[in-house]
This record gives sequence, C-alpha cells and structure tokens, in this order.
Amino acid sequence: MKEEKKEILEKHGYALTGEESGVKLCHWVREKLIRGRSCYKEDFYGIECHRCLQMSPSLDVCNQSCLFCWRYQDYEDRDKVEFDEPEEIVSRSLEVQKDLVSGFRGDDRCSERMWKEARLPNQVAISLSGEPTMYPHLSDLIEEYEKRGMTTFLVSNGTRPELLAELDSLPTQLYITLSAPNKDIFKKLCVPSSKKLWNKIIESLELLPSFETRTVVRHTLVKNWNIGWELEYADMIERAEPNFIEAKGYVFVGDSRSRMSLDNMPSHETIMGFAKKESRLLGLDILAEKKSSRVVLIGSEETDPDI
Ligand code: SF4
Ligand code: SF4
Repeated sequence: MKEEKKEILEKHGYALTGEESGVKLCHWVREKLIRGRSCYKEDFYGIECHRCLQMSPSLDVCNQSCLFCWRYQDYEDRDKVEFDEPEEIVSRSLEVQKDLVSGFRGDDRCSERMWKEARLPNQVAISLSGEPTMYPHLSDLIEEYEKRGMTTFLVSNGTRPELLAELDSLPTQLYITLSAPNKDIFKKLCVPSSKKLWNKIIESLELLPSFETRTVVRHTLVKNWNIGWELEYADMIERAEPNFIEAKGYVFVGDSRSRMSLDNMPSHETIMGFAKKESRLLGLDILAEKKSSRVVLIGSEETDPDI
C-alpha cells in the first residue's frame, strides 16, 4: 500500500496488520465497554460486541465506489497489490485488538471482567474497508479465525461469485449487500468498476441457497436513491433464499459525507415501511427492529433460531 494511504488510514484510526490488512476498533466495542450499549448484531444474532474484532484483509481494494460508503476510497488496482498471509493477519489482528482495548483498563465505566473479555475476541467481522472477496486466501483466513474458536461474519458486495463458490471454509454468517433494485441505480449509486458487476451480484444471490451456513441479504437504504422498488428487490431475494434480510438505513458518517447529504438518511419509519412491503411480498415476517440503528430484521418466525 502506498505510504500516503497508510498515513490516511492510520489517521482515521486503522491499525495495519501488514501491507494490505488492518483492524479498526468498532464504535460499538467502545459503547459496550463504557455504556453497556450493544450493536444491533448482538441483539439480532447474539454475538458479544465487546468481543468483536473488525478487520479487513484487503483494505485498499474494492471494485465499487459506492456513494454511501463511509470509508476512505481511492482504491488500488488489485493486480498491483501484495496481499498478506492469513496466519500472519490473524495473529497480528488479535495482538492489535489487545492494544486497542488496553486504554479501557482503569476507566471507571468499564468493568475489569468486560475489559479482560474484550482482550480475547471471539467474533470477527470481516467487513472493514475494501471488498474481502478480493483477497485470494479468504477461505484460509476464515479457517484460521475459526481454529481459534471465533465466529466469523463475512460481508461481501457480491461481485465475486466465483470466489464465494470456492470457499472451503464458510463463515458463520455470510452477508451479500443488495443496494440497488436495478442495474441503472446500481451504476449510479455503487459506481462499479466494470459493467459486468451487476450480473455478478445476481449470480452471487443465486448461489446463496447452496451455502450451508447462515445467510443474510443486506440492503443499505438511501433516501432519494434506492428506497421503493420492493417488487424488484423481492424478486431477487426470492432467488437467494437467505435466512435473514436486513433493511438498514444509510447513516451520514465518515467519508460518505462528501458524497451524500444529511437528507439522504431515511427515518426509521421509512425503513419499517419498506420492510413491511418487502416482507409481505416474500411471505416473511418482521422479526426485530432497532430504531437507534435504523434497521429492521426480516425472516420467517419458523426459522430455527440456532441456524
Ligand atoms: S458486529 Fe459489526 S457493529 Fe457489531 S461490534 Fe462487530 S463490527 Fe461492530
Ligand atoms: S462495496 Fe463496500 S467497501 Fe466497496 S465502496 Fe461499496 S461500501 Fe465501500
């Protein structure tokens, strides 16, 4: 990675774990340790968010430049990048997380027990900057984390179905983001690097039923851009048969503030309205909601909660 980019990422709070990989302490780890507030994934899926490690093996590579992305973009060409080895990334990321939480010791608001637990993450979110399926050793990376007894959440933009199909080790939870109801909106909102990527996302969605793991389709909903078209979204989701759907409102944070405006943040009521229409079309239920995160969980009440 170029030195200037490293400096920018470090300024933004990233801790590098190699040339192309890194960790950033999630805002919710702090919230949990200090205020006892958890992220919606703790509420929905039962992870312990103070024990969650947020990382990426491909910080500087993505084939989209989504307008709503909160990360610093200016991505590098994948062919020019030298990726780090999975074992190295995993052991360094665990060490770095220990350092990142070290400052909470001694803070009266953080209990000694929680602090000790935070030093030993048992969950990894492979979903920081960059697209993780650009990383050629993704399967080994997942395996390395799982060997250490950690659950793994992988968030992909869905543009590399061939890599997903080759995964020998599956994550505990596999997310595919679906942020556009059609190719035209996808092109304008997600700014893909190639015309083929829309069809690749459809391919990934069609592949989803073949994975023997928990699957989630996530919508990032941006007011005045991609809300509505419930029928189009439902058609695509029907092919993916995910265990869950997350309808999540865009949040005006990070670098997205230079591309979006505060007005692009939908209200929770708008998200719920969308979720109700989509779930009705799919014959599914509203399972949960978290107003403060503007997110609604859709699925079937008959789904085994232990999936
Ligand atoms: S699951 Fe996501 S939001 Fe929750 S603590 Fe981990 S990285 Fe943060
Ligand atoms: S796919 Fe993800 S990392 Fe890439 S630009 Fe979009 S939101 Fe950002």
